[in-house]
Amino acid sequence: MRPFRDIPIERKLLVAILATTALALLLSGLSFLVLDTVWFRQQLRRDLSALARIIAENSTAAVAFDDAKSAGETLTALRERPHVLAACIYRLDGSVLASYSPAGQTCPPPRAFGGLVLRGGRIEVFQTIALKDRPVGHLALLYDLGEIAERLRLYGLLVLAVLLISGAIAVRSSVRLRERIVAPIEELARDAAHVAETRDYTIRARKQSRDELGVLVESFNAMLFSIQSRDDDLRKALADREQALAQAKNARDQLEMITDTMASAVTRCGRDHRLIWASRQYSRWLNLPPGQIAGQPLAGVIGENAFAALRPFIDRVLAGERVEYEVEADFKTIGPRWIRGTYVPTRAANGEVDGWVAELSDITALKRAQADVVEINRQLQRLNSSLARSNEDLERFAYVASHDLQEPLRIVTTYSQLLIRTYGRELRGEAAAFIDNIVDGARRMQTLLADLLAYTGISAEIERPVENVDLNAALETAKSHLKAAIAESGAQIASDPLPSARGHEGHFVSLLQNLIGNAIKYRSADPPRIRIAAGRQGGEMRIEVSDNGIGIAPEYHQKIFVPFKRLHGRKIPGSGIGLAICQRVVERYGGRIWVESQVGAGSKFIFTLPEAAPPAREAASAGEAPHERAAL
Ligand code: ADP
Repeated sequence: MRPFRDIPIERKLLVAILATTALALLLSGLSFLVLDTVWFRQQLRRDLSALARIIAENSTAAVAFDDAKSAGETLTALRERPHVLAACIYRLDGSVLASYSPAGQTCPPPRAFGGLVLRGGRIEVFQTIALKDRPVGHLALLYDLGEIAERLRLYGLLVLAVLLISGAIAVRSSVRLRERIVAPIEELARDAAHVAETRDYTIRARKQSRDELGVLVESFNAMLFSIQSRDDDLRKALADREQALAQAKNARDQLEMITDTMASAVTRCGRDHRLIWASRQYSRWLNLPPGQIAGQPLAGVIGENAFAALRPFIDRVLAGERVEYEVEADFKTIGPRWIRGTYVPTRAANGEVDGWVAELSDITALKRAQADVVEINRQLQRLNSSLARSNEDLERFAYVASHDLQEPLRIVTTYSQLLIRTYGRELRGEAAAFIDNIVDGARRMQTLLADLLAYTGISAEIERPVENVDLNAALETAKSHLKAAIAESGAQIASDPLPSARGHEGHFVSLLQNLIGNAIKYRSADPPRIRIAAGRQGGEMRIEVSDNGIGIAPEYHQKIFVPFKRLHGRKIPGSGIGLAICQRVVERYGGRIWVESQVGAGSKFIFTLPEAAPPAREAASAGEAPHERAAL
């Protein structure tokens, strides 16, 4: 059975009304009953005493005369009182004079004095019969109290009937009460349940009265209104929070995407040296699962040794300084590594440094490669200096040989010519031709030796200080050396005004002479047209020597600068050293030389040279050494 507090209000009301009505009726019925019983008993006592006196007075004569018959008749009058069970008139000696007993009940024994005695649900009434105040006998009555029980039963039935009628009335009135009280409460309860179920706080309960229920409905509606506005605020705050969360997630995703694509690892640490965040690159690099990094002390993640190596930089960044460093540290998980790091301090809202962001690159391989490069460089330098030494030896040898060989060659030539002059007529047949060949070979060898001397002689100039050389003057000298060839070929030479260059004049004469000489030598069927143009390019001077000669196939553009490399055999005289000399001169003074040409389309030799130095006074004021030497 459900406890009272859990049953519906409607039933509660009904039970309360019924219980109250029943209780009131019961109490009033009970008090009425008690009162009536008490009153009735008193009344009965008085009545029985009066009855006993009347019978005693009426039977005085009969007792005095011992007239049993008339005493019996007096007692017979008690027939009208059905609750009198027995009545006896006793003589003074206690013997029965007359008795009345309709139901065969025994009279109580006589008593010397009158009065009432209650015994076993009956009343015994005693009365002395006196004649002129002298007792002549006794009267005893036995009265049944069943009348009281009957009255009680009657009253009980009455109360029950009233109870039933009032209960029915209470049930009827509870229906009306339900309409007035319970229905609005039920409606309110339904509204509350609906709100709880749907969380729709826009619902409002209907106010049906101005009593406490009306106040309750108003309070309920006010509560709904405040919940609704708080709900709206909450929803807005929730939406804002979700948006902020989405933005934060987006920013985080982007950060991770960016840091994932970076070659270097990125971390963020707090003032307490704990890692707040680390890019995936960092966990991959340290060979640690990402979950074992964030929130951990840096010393625990990288090991005490590595932490000690980084500590000085950490102290500096926490002092607010941006720190860039390269250091070798022994990491707990990956061993000794060279790292290049940049630490940037991060600041809290109050401006105080609350940690730092680190960008870290593992430069171990780079450092090893650098060490290898340094070692290779050292070896190359050793090799270079030994090559330079043997080159120098070779050049010195070539220089000395080409110089010293000229003398015996001159003797061969001179004596061959002397032989022809002296014995020319006597020489028969092929002998003269042989001697001509000797002279020709000796001359070619002389040219070769002279060119070789010029080539190796460039190095010999190494000790002489360089000077500003007017290339216009050098060009004029070159042209004068080539006067015969120019005249013979009908060559036309046009030139821009040329700048000055730092170096030795003889070298620049040789450079221009070789280029112009080749333009004449390797001419086409047309008379040579040679143009010398000058300009500037990227802080250098650029000089071009173009001709309308036979041109050079692209595959030989590099090879023709190699000493003794020739493309035309003996048809056109030459030693194959001219362009090698040009290259050597240009490169010795810090420039480059190359050719642009096609077969049959002429050639353009281009060389660059550094801009000539400013005049001596300016150079001195710029701190330049007064006796600068060629970079040979
Ligand atoms: P050479 O003594 O043979 O002229 P160079 O070193 O001066 O030696 O030239 C090398 C070769 O380059 C020449 O044999 C020639 O074939 C080619 N050469 C040089 N200059 C020209 C030019 N202006 N036109 C065509 N070919 C050239």
